[in-house]
Amino acid sequence: MDKPLPTDWSTAATAERRNTFYAASQKKFVPFKEPMVFRKGAMQYLWDVEGKRYIDLLAMNVCISVGHSHPKVVKAAMDQAQDLTHCTTMFYHPVPAHFAEELAATMPKGQEWVVHFTNSGSEAIDLAMVMARTFTGHLDLLALRTAYHGPTSAAQSVTGIAAFRHPGMPGNVAFVAEPNQYRGVYGATVDPYLDEIEQAIAAATTGRVAGILVESVQGYGGIIEMPKGYMSGAAERVRAAGGLYIADEVQSGFGRTGDHMWGFEQDGVVPDIVVLAKGIGNGFPLGAVVARKAIGDVMAEKFMFHTYGAHPTSCAAGRAVLQVIREERTQQNAKAVGAVLLERLKDLQQRHKAIGDVRGRGLMLAIEMVKDRKSKEPDAETTAAVFEKCRDQGLILSKSGPNRSVLRMVPPMCLSLEDVDQVAEGLDRAFNEVAT
Ligand code: PMP
Repeated sequence: MDKPLPTDWSTAATAERRNTFYAASQKKFVPFKEPMVFRKGAMQYLWDVEGKRYIDLLAMNVCISVGHSHPKVVKAAMDQAQDLTHCTTMFYHPVPAHFAEELAATMPKGQEWVVHFTNSGSEAIDLAMVMARTFTGHLDLLALRTAYHGPTSAAQSVTGIAAFRHPGMPGNVAFVAEPNQYRGVYGATVDPYLDEIEQAIAAATTGRVAGILVESVQGYGGIIEMPKGYMSGAAERVRAAGGLYIADEVQSGFGRTGDHMWGFEQDGVVPDIVVLAKGIGNGFPLGAVVARKAIGDVMAEKFMFHTYGAHPTSCAAGRAVLQVIREERTQQNAKAVGAVLLERLKDLQQRHKAIGDVRGRGLMLAIEMVKDRKSKEPDAETTAAVFEKCRDQGLILSKSGPNRSVLRMVPPMCLSLEDVDQVAEGLDRAFNEVAT
């Protein structure tokens, strides 16, 4: 090949090109006031074009499960890409077939599980919705307020955050209150939230439903953990109305919560359908629907073909991710390091009155900012100010939640105890500068 195409790495030129050539839909969602260009990543760290190092507490929106450019994952993908970059599912290829077997083996025992690979989480959500409606013969679905399930029009229709909902999406979705133990409408309880599911089925559906979608820990909604008894209680009520329980593990999966590989295991519930993406490929585009075999089987009536589904290069990366999680005890690290970080965040809460709540488990943590601890009025301004100051401290976080008042921490799961010191100290300095 001749010389590679030139790339202008300057921040100003990149911003100008984006501004001119990206559609508004692709350029609006940016975190910082000033543009930021990353040039390199290694494990839990990122470097910008000026060479400044950051601890990545966002993991590229929770995609980087085992570390940026993890050498074993990159090698697996590169080896496959060199041999045969793509092979559609019309033809047979062993890599995705192996990966399907390996993923199925991580699911609860006592069921036969089947896998359909997609390219993204929203595609997988879409497919899960089609499967649930086809299997049950019912149209109505339930979803939770403050849920985020993706940008495709079907995934938007089950997303309970107005800023991500556009005109024209399909309907037949009834929303129920999220069991937010800090500021939920029924407070720190479980039963009233479950009662609302029954009421919604009775009032806002035909009485027979296709299912409910639940993130085991709401991610973009601001790290809202499903309290003990909620997931199993929701499954029971929805199944009584003929529906399926669909677990969205796009953010909470792959050991991130520390105690379990899958967030739903926390409650002992066995889902009918599990949706995976993001961390599954450690940055390679990949998603998957894992379903009970009987549910997968109903799709045999018609074709459902994703051109890039079961992509061998992405699936080679996915296999390596599972291997790394096992070999490098990633889940155990998420549990141990997450517990220490949580304590440090609680300590910060003692010293900064803007922090209303600290929550989460494993490496899925958040602090929520309030104007007043009693009224719990969300404080988006302080959140944004601390977030900007964290950039100077070499920390990348995420402004999350329906009020943009939550700083979410979902780093690559190789975060170390030394990093925790830097995170806690950097956050402390950022809060001091904003004077809270
Ligand atoms: N479900 C959850 C819980 C998510 O967080 C996301 C992405 N933020 C999606 C689904 C959609 O995934 P994707 O962006 O890969 O389409």
